Amino acid sequence: MNCEKCGTSIDPDEKYEHAGQILCEDCYLDMKAAPKVCDPWAVYTAKKEAGANPTLTPIQEKILNLIRKKGETTAEEICREIGIKEEEFRTNFAALRHMELARATKKGDEIYFTTFSN
Ligand SMILES: [Zn+2]
Repeated sequence: MNCEKCGTSIDPDEKYEHAGQILCEDCYLDMKAAPKVCDPWAVYTAKKEAGANPTLTPIQEKILNLIRKKGETTAEEICREIGIKEEEFRTNFAALRHMELARATKKGDEIYFTTFSN
């Protein structure tokens, strides 16, 4: 029997079931620990990566560098400067937020993006 998530072989006595999937203990605990958000898989991946040594994709790096350079910036500006679609920005920003590298802040009607420790 194998874990349906990571594929590791598991003893039938040690299997865990979550949302209809058979999981190993590690994956089960990860599922349980993951906060409920619109994209659990992004959080799961981000947390895993942030643990030891965060690995950013080139787009995530560009977003983070731009935010660092500007201090505070809007999604519009980020998309224009980097040349990505807003949808792409949102997905990548979610990962940065879960790695606690960047965050969003509201000023009036506008949402600004800034670094986490600001
Ligand atoms: Zn597993």
